[in-house]
This record gives sequence, C-alpha cells and structure tokens, in this order.
Amino acid sequence: MVQHDKKTLERMIDGDLPWDELKPIISGRKDPNRFDIILEILQERVSWNEKILLPLHEHLYVVSKEGQRIVKCDCGYEFGDYRENWKHKCRVRVRDTEESIGELYPKYMGSDPDWEELREYICPGCLSLLDVEAVPPGYPTIFNFLPDIDAFYEKWLGRKAPDKK
Ligand SMILES: [Zn+2]
Repeated sequence: MVQHDKKTLERMIDGDLPWDELKPIISGRKDPNRFDIILEILQERVSWNEKILLPLHEHLYVVSKEGQRIVKCDCGYEFGDYRENWKHKCRVRVRDTEESIGELYPKYMGSDPDWEELREYICPGCLSLLDVEAVPPGYPTIFNFLPDIDAFYEKWLGRKAPDKK
C-alpha cells in the first residue's frame, strides 16, 4: 500500500509536476502519510544530509541545519534563514526591454517596459531559474511564501516538527 503510493508519487514528481499542483498534494489533509512519502522521495534525491522539513519552492527546501531552519537548493546552495527572502541571495537578471522580454516570454510581448520588467531569480549554485517576477520597475522584491512550519506540523500532521523536541 505504502509502496504503491510511493511509486505513484515518485512518478508524479518525475513527470515534472508543476509546483502549483504538487503543493495541494503535499498539504492534502486527507493523507498526512503522503507528506512523509514525498519528503522521503525528495530526501533520497538530494546529495546532502540535512533533514528536509518542508519543500518550499521548485528546487528549494527548508531544512534543519545545526538547529537553524535554512533554505537550501537541491544543488546544495544555502540561502540562509528561511524567514529571510531567499531571492536576495539569488543572481538576478532583469529583462526590461521589449526585445529581452520577447526573447523568452512571448506572453509579455508588447507589455510596456516602462511599466513592467521581468526579474529572473537564479540560484548562484546551479544557475537554475527559480522564479520570475513581472513587476513595475523599482517594485520591491516579492516575498513568495513564509511557511509556518510548526503550525503546519502540529495542525496538519498532528505532531511536532522533527527538529523540535
Ligand atoms: Zn541551486
């Protein structure tokens, strides 16, 4: 039963399941067991040993390291405290001309670069594109998501986070 579940979930993760679709599965109220299986699969796939507490974003995890909760990329790059915006540690590429936007993002073609720019947030460790923001020039960096890890574990999974006694 559990094995079958694991294979299914593994296939879903392999099938480039969009993060937005993975998220409700992870936090699915019906089956907290699924969360453990997903964590197990993810943990097996990374080359480092810090315990994954929560998948945060495509490529990114909140992990427990020496009593701290930090954001870590699957490549091993560490972004620091999970309450700080990991985007501040990224390499940022700004596309603020019609040419540079249209090159990769046809759906933004024709948007006026005076009003909107695209910011690409890139992991300094593996150069994966982690996120793209379409924002007015000068707009502050968006903080995507600050998970309440303890509440998540206690309310949704009915136990304490593994790094808490
Ligand atoms: Zn990386």
